[in-house]
Amino acid sequence: MKNPFETPERAAFRETVRRFVETEVKPYADEWDEAGEIPWELHEKVGALGAFGFGVSEKYGGLGFDDCFMRAAVSEEFAQCGANGIPAAFGGRGISIGPLEKLASDDIKDAVLADIVAGRKGSSLAITEPSGGSDVARLKTTAKRDGNHYVINGSKTFITGGMKSDYFVVGARTGEEGLAGISLFFVEKDTPGFSRTDIGRKMGWWASDTATLYFDDCRVPAENLMGDENLGFIQIMHNFNYERLAMIAGALGMMKVCFDESVCWARERETFGRPMIKSQVIRHKLADMSAKIDRTEAYLNHICWQANEGEMPVAEICKGKFSATKALEFCASEAMQILGGAGYLRGNLVERVYREVKVQAIGGGSEEIMRDLAVRQMGL
Ligand SMILES: Cc1cc2nc3c(=O)[nH]c(=O)nc-3n(C[C@H](O)[C@H](O)[C@H](O)COP(=O)(O)OP(=O)(O)OC[C@H]3O[C@@H](n4cnc5c(N)ncnc54)[C@H](O)[C@@H]3O)c2cc1C
Repeated sequence: MKNPFETPERAAFRETVRRFVETEVKPYADEWDEAGEIPWELHEKVGALGAFGFGVSEKYGGLGFDDCFMRAAVSEEFAQCGANGIPAAFGGRGISIGPLEKLASDDIKDAVLADIVAGRKGSSLAITEPSGGSDVARLKTTAKRDGNHYVINGSKTFITGGMKSDYFVVGARTGEEGLAGISLFFVEKDTPGFSRTDIGRKMGWWASDTATLYFDDCRVPAENLMGDENLGFIQIMHNFNYERLAMIAGALGMMKVCFDESVCWARERETFGRPMIKSQVIRHKLADMSAKIDRTEAYLNHICWQANEGEMPVAEICKGKFSATKALEFCASEAMQILGGAGYLRGNLVERVYREVKVQAIGGGSEEIMRDLAVRQMGL
């Protein structure tokens, strides 16, 4: 579908990412999926592409500018490898670099940001707790001021990249109950009182590690407070917008995989004496998939344009996320039906997409929470 916002720079950037995914990722995607990890060199190669540099100053190896169309292109093109656990494996960085750049002290940024942006070190965002992820305002982990330190106690779970990351952005309660008592902290993996365990096997995102983090009297210097005390909730919500935008784009990329694989198979496969693509039932499935892809793409482009204009269209992002994940669910299911038994074989592109559907619908704000937030943002 033609993108009215395309520019030569955006087209060239997308082409570079596409070629990278085609040659450096796709051929190994199934192998890495089965191994449950990606080689660390991939983090560095993706860093060299500039994919972690949006909104980050050139001083830290960033791009020195932001562009939501380019951000979306990275997520969409990486999703073409089917196994979305591969981009998720460096996704912890994607959701923690923004708060680090915006809120961390200059000393912390000077010490860590260049390594993170280059892919040499990993970073993760730790908000979700064992008691729940949807209701961020009720998080229980505490950070109590003690002289020149804060002492953090509590735990976080489902943290992407959590086993391999060196650095963490952690949400903790510094004040009253509710959203007005939450702050963000920078925590390093070697800080005494910090430990982590691997969550283990998951339905999808196989190549990405997911951890539970523990904070037992974990003392961090007071300058590790990121931004103003008790104003962390707003920052967390702002950051979610970029994560959700990336997840819409990832869903779009996977939908396109489903469509392309379906067309390819339906052309090749003969049933009842003719190629399946001649069957009206199959053609209708393809029409429905294509319409959902076009709608998602047009909506995503509109959101990117608004975000680039300096607006943060929260209601549209929420509506975009849940409608994209529902559309992905549809496309993955229809593609599996079109491929039949072949689609059900482990490692097949459609099989890999199928197992990524639910994490898109739950992570970064579930479909239910997205609907709720959308109507609240609409003043209802
Ligand atoms: C693979 C993976 C990676 C993740 N990575 C990270 C990460 O890096 N950092 C991080 O902080 N978090 C991460 N998460 C956590 C994710 O953001 C949460 O799973 C998500 O926000 C939902 O929280 P929950 O799982 O605790 O579900 P809950 O909040 O317990 O909710 C359970 C279910 O009930 C629904 N629900 C809740 N309340 C209502 C209601 N009032 N009405 C109707 N339905 C409701 C929710 O939509 C959800 O489907 C990750 C999760 C996964 C699965």
